[in-house]
Amino acid sequence: MPDYDIIIIGSGPAGLTAAIYAGRALVRTLVVSGRFSGGQLMLTSGVENFPGFSNGIQGPVLMQEMRKQAERFGAELLDEDVESVYFRPNELKVGAAGRVFTAGSVIIATGSSAKWLGLPSEEKLRGRGVSSCATCDGYFFRGRQVVVVGGGDAALEEALFLTKYANDVIVIHRRDRLRASKIMQSRAMAHEKIRFIWDSVVEEILGTDKVAGVRVRNLKTGEVSVVSCDGVFVAIGFQPNTKIFEGQIDLDEKGYVVSHGTETSVKGVFVAGDVHDYRYRQAVTAAGEGCKAAMDALTYLEEQKQITIAAREK
Ligand code: NAP
Repeated sequence: MPDYDIIIIGSGPAGLTAAIYAGRALVRTLVVSGRFSGGQLMLTSGVENFPGFSNGIQGPVLMQEMRKQAERFGAELLDEDVESVYFRPNELKVGAAGRVFTAGSVIIATGSSAKWLGLPSEEKLRGRGVSSCATCDGYFFRGRQVVVVGGGDAALEEALFLTKYANDVIVIHRRDRLRASKIMQSRAMAHEKIRFIWDSVVEEILGTDKVAGVRVRNLKTGEVSVVSCDGVFVAIGFQPNTKIFEGQIDLDEKGYVVSHGTETSVKGVFVAGDVHDYRYRQAVTAAGEGCKAAMDALTYLEEQKQITIAAREK
């Protein structure tokens, strides 16, 4: 008998919803939740579009509630990163905290992480004015001028959030049209502290010990200019957290888990959320997929006659 019926890797909305469903099905469930459990919503402020909260809810509060709900139904949470995985049909192993756990079924819900521009100066000044999280670091820029790079919802959300602290927020976008939703566009455009630099990329972040400005190139005219600022917030999208799965499961050219519904290339291993969904990437769609993955894993275990219902009721 494996150590757990279902091992869930990841503890964002996808992983924790899967844990709630698995726990309520009374199967032995382990969530390897990562050292920084809770996923990307731990880095956001108000969540306005998760159904059920008419006045919105803080991201970290929502995740804490999901975690408590999973624990209430018996899921065990291990706040450690996964160290290794070994996926073969009927032989599924997950290494964490110096141990190797065997599983009847695994659900991958490791989400995605912020992308960076890839500049040496960005690397050098990360944590010294360069950030990917306005909620975490915005406070340090009270009364200052900051730059946000990107043209999607995340960039505008960062820019709007930063107006609470900064005097000037400059959004630098590589095109002349934003990718962000209309509602976010109108909020940002209407804000007196936000202005835009279009058709431009950041070539270098300036400063020795801390950010002093950015060197910007206009892609249409080729003109190079320097914009003074004290902080640079990079909000250019995400990449899937799948390094640990390389060689164990099929990944596409961008590193997302290849899937059919919630199924992956290995029988008994299922997937949910941003780690394979690059289209919707919403907390509510991740939660919905976590539910589906848990139900599919339960069906798989029943078919394999592997289920050990109520084994933890002793
Ligand atoms: P996104 O929609 O993929 O936007 C990424 C932005 O960064 C794009 O404007 C892109 O430019 C730009 N970009 C990408 N690589 C770049 C590079 N190397 N250099 C310069 N610019 C670069 O990502 P996102 O904004 O993180 O949003 C992800 C998903 O989460 C979306 O579905 C979004 O709707 C959702 N979201 C929603 C909210 C909200 O509703 N409040 C908040 C945050 C995120 P191009 O436009 O030229 O491609």
